[in-house]
Amino acid sequence: MNLEKNPGLYIHIPFCLSKCHYCDFYSSTSLSIVSDFLNALFKEMEMYRNRFKAFDTVYFGGGTPSLLSPKQLKDILITVQKNFDLTANTEITIETNPADLDQSSLESMRRMGINRINIGVQSFDEKVLPFLGRRHSAKQAISAIETSRKAGFENIGLDLIYGVPGQEMNSWLNTLRQAVAFSPEHLSCYQLTLEAETPLGIRYRAGEFLMPGEELEYQFFVKTSQFLEDAGYVHYEVSNFARGMEHASKHNQKYWDNSPYLGLGPSAHSFQNNCRWWNRRSVDQYIPAIAAGNLPVEETETLTREQLRLEALYLGLRTKKGVNFEEYKNRYQYDLLTEKKEMIEKLREEGFISIHDGRLYPTQAGLAVADSLALI
Ligand code: SF4
Repeated sequence: MNLEKNPGLYIHIPFCLSKCHYCDFYSSTSLSIVSDFLNALFKEMEMYRNRFKAFDTVYFGGGTPSLLSPKQLKDILITVQKNFDLTANTEITIETNPADLDQSSLESMRRMGINRINIGVQSFDEKVLPFLGRRHSAKQAISAIETSRKAGFENIGLDLIYGVPGQEMNSWLNTLRQAVAFSPEHLSCYQLTLEAETPLGIRYRAGEFLMPGEELEYQFFVKTSQFLEDAGYVHYEVSNFARGMEHASKHNQKYWDNSPYLGLGPSAHSFQNNCRWWNRRSVDQYIPAIAAGNLPVEETETLTREQLRLEALYLGLRTKKGVNFEEYKNRYQYDLLTEKKEMIEKLREEGFISIHDGRLYPTQAGLAVADSLALI
C-alpha cells in the first residue's frame, strides 16, 4: 500500500424514504431511529480518532444522505472535524435524491463546506423512473440541478442508469443530451444490473420482462462513451466521465488505487495497511454494538501481496490511467510484461488493450469488458 497517500472518509447514511426496485445497498426505511444512528456514528468517529492521518476527501453516501436536515449534516461535519484532521481543499461530496433538494437546503450544504454534489437523476424519461421505483420525477431532477448551480455548487455530478428493459437507444441518448445541456462537471452512467433479491430481480425471474442482452448492452456502453467524449467528457473509468480530469472523483480514486479509506456507518468498508474490514450491515446491529463500547465490525481480512496485486490489476484496467509496468513491478515484485507476455500480446491484437509510455491501458472495447480483462 502507498503510505504517503491521504486517506478518504466515507460515511454511510443508511436511510431511504422508500426502496428503489433495483437497489441492494443497505438502507432502512425506519426513519424514527435517525437520531440514535447519529449518536452511534459520533461514537464510532471517536473510536477511530488518531488512527488515520488527514483525510482529503469526505463522502456522504447511502442510503440517502439528503434525507438528513442541514443541522444533522452540519453536526456530522463538526464531529468529523473534532475527531480527524482534514487537508485544505478537502473534497466533500454528498449523494442526493432530487426530491429532497431546494434552494435553502442546497445553500446550507454549501455554507457548511460541502463542495461536490451527486444528484441521482437516473433518467430524464418519465416512463423509466417508475419502473426503477424512483420517488422523484424528471422535472424535479431538472429543478434540483438548476437550483444546485444557483446555490453555488461548482462541482455537480449526475448519476444515470441505462440498459433498462424496454428502453430505446433514442430515449437513452435523449437523457444524455439533456444531462450534457446542464454542463455537469461529472457523470456516472451505470448499466442496470439485476440483483437476485431486489423487486426487479424477483420480477425478472418470474418472467415479467426481458433484459436487453449482451449485444445491446455493449451498444449502450459504446454509444454512451462516444456521445460523452464528443461532448468533451473524459471517459476515465468504466462508468465515470469527467469534464476534464480535475473533475474526476478524488474519493472514488482511492478505491481504485489501493489508497487507505475509513468507512463509517452500517455496511461501510475500510482499508488500511493491507487490511480490509467492514461493518455490520444492519443498523439494528450497528447501534447496539457501539452502545456496548465495541467497534461494529463484522469481519476483517488481511490481504496477501498476491491478492493486492490481482486487485491492483483488476482496478487499474477499469480506469483510463491503466497500469504502470514499473510501479507494478516495484510494488508487487511481479513483471507483468514477462509473466503475461502471450496474453498481453493476444489482447493487444484483439484491440482490448494498448501499451505506450510504460503503461498498459484498456481501449474503449477493453473498458466494456474490463472485468474479464483482469483475468489475464
Ligand atoms: S435512494 Fe439510493 S440507496 Fe436508496 S433505495 Fe434508491 S438507489 Fe438504493
